[in-house]
Amino acid sequence: MRRTIVAGNWKMNKTVDEAVSLAKGVVAATAGAEAETVVCPAYPCLVPVRDAIAGSHVLLGAQDVYWEARGAYTGKVSCEMLASAGVVYVIIGHSEQRQYFHETNETVNRKVKAALGAGLKPIVCVGETLDEREAGRTEAVVEDHVTGAYAGISAEEALRTVIAYEPVWAIGTGKTATPEMAQEAHAVIRGLLGRAYDAPTADAIRIQYGGSMKPGNARELLAQPDIDGGLIGGASLKPDDFKGIVLA
Ligand code: PEP
Repeated sequence: MRRTIVAGNWKMNKTVDEAVSLAKGVVAATAGAEAETVVCPAYPCLVPVRDAIAGSHVLLGAQDVYWEARGAYTGKVSCEMLASAGVVYVIIGHSEQRQYFHETNETVNRKVKAALGAGLKPIVCVGETLDEREAGRTEAVVEDHVTGAYAGISAEEALRTVIAYEPVWAIGTGKTATPEMAQEAHAVIRGLLGRAYDAPTADAIRIQYGGSMKPGNARELLAQPDIDGGLIGGASLKPDDFKGIVLA
């Protein structure tokens, strides 16, 4: 059985005080939830949010990481630093990183390996742009992202990861993939994992959907057999909306 996982990606939103207050709101709003619940604030907010959620069911995630362990890499944050701040999950390969900050399959793979090495659990983002979908390339793109991210990763390591299928055209746009479209892509991903590893491994890895998931569409998306949770942007910034998704 795959336990549903809902993660809030707060992106570059919220000051420290605002993040602490949102984190407390999420703890209160999602108390008793069956789904594993994760919040991913920006770097300066990690430790204050860790303290705000301490002792609760909510886990801490980060939005990115650098693969080198230490050294002269101004502006970067290592896996060990994240682990020491209480981070459990780390989002890797988000489409905004791919689009604006030169993230490639190769850098995603390096980050996934480094995160696993430090005991962090990567949330690996994959997904096609609108042009790619319209050109009929969805499967090829998803395959390219998954194969690139998991190159040289063992089955045992892959089990410690989560995949987020995020069609880029649905992120922050209010457009959501239909449950059927999302399920189709998730099934493709599970098939790829089955070929790369084996059926039990593919069956055990959780695949989240991301892209304008809201309380109003979460239930239908999460009811699909291969959708095991959500990576939530906009709706994670309001405790009541996030609660609606976590409880769905
Ligand atoms: C995201 O950025 O991962 C995301 C899914 O954003 P939104 O929910 O706002 O579409």
